[in-house]
Amino acid sequence: MDFTNKTVLITGGARGIGRATAAAFASRGARVAINFRNNHQAARDAVEELEGDGHLAIRADISQPEAVRQMADAVVDEFGRLDIVVNNAGIFEPHPIDTSSYQAWQDSWNRTLATNLSGAANVCFCAARHMMRQGGGHIVNVSSRGAFRGEPAQPAYGASKAGLNALSQSLAQALAPYNIFVGAVAPGFVDTDMAKGYLDGEAGEAIRRQSPLNRVAKAEEVAFAILFLASEQAAFTTGCILDINGASYLRT
Ligand code: NAP
Repeated sequence: MDFTNKTVLITGGARGIGRATAAAFASRGARVAINFRNNHQAARDAVEELEGDGHLAIRADISQPEAVRQMADAVVDEFGRLDIVVNNAGIFEPHPIDTSSYQAWQDSWNRTLATNLSGAANVCFCAARHMMRQGGGHIVNVSSRGAFRGEPAQPAYGASKAGLNALSQSLAQALAPYNIFVGAVAPGFVDTDMAKGYLDGEAGEAIRRQSPLNRVAKAEEVAFAILFLASEQAAFTTGCILDINGASYLRT
């Protein structure tokens, strides 16, 4: 996979899957914009680690529609075009229905949907406008196995990722006439900060055993699948949702 002269925007790219994806794109020739929410230092460090030149860190809370528009415009101003967008930013917070207060329940739903679903939808909108003008592009959305398997303690998360799958497939149809290809990856547990509390806790062994490989994914393995979907040769995969779960959950 070669991304020479391609420009990429990755939301939530300062750590975890986003950071590994930024590194993978840069090592194959792309110029990368790493979006961060608050931690400018982490984003600067991530940019400094990237191979090649011309990368940038760009602040935006993607749950804020106006911030998303400004981010997309700023990336295009800086790079001149936007070839690939990876909607990676996401939050995962517990709000079990049997123990949460009604207020806590609503707050979690609002925060989760605003980031994982509406935020990603707004990034798609703003990026697609630029991609339509320039004649094409690729969008890859980072979904989750939870969309299919259920998230009993984080139902808003599961719903947000199921929504992101449906969004990806609808946009694959709507944007195909513009040469814009849209796919999603659906990882099971991945070894990042988001999953650390679970993987290091007493459930860790059982989680690893969900896969017959007896481990969870590395961020670099998810990054590889994202790059595949973003590559020119994968255009006809548009609309697909690629499982990356080590056969821990099989669907047909
Ligand atoms: P992570 O290490 O917690 O990183 C999440 C990233 O998203 C952080 O960079 C965070 O920025 C950013 N972010 C969150 N809210 C944001 C907002 N409103 N605006 C901008 N950036 C925001 O998690 P990860 O494991 O790499 O997760 C990446 C994606 O993979 C997520 O969409 C997640 O749902 C999905 N996923 C993860 C797993 C897993 O087991 N780890 C499994 C399936 C799917 P800050 O540094 O500012 O917090």
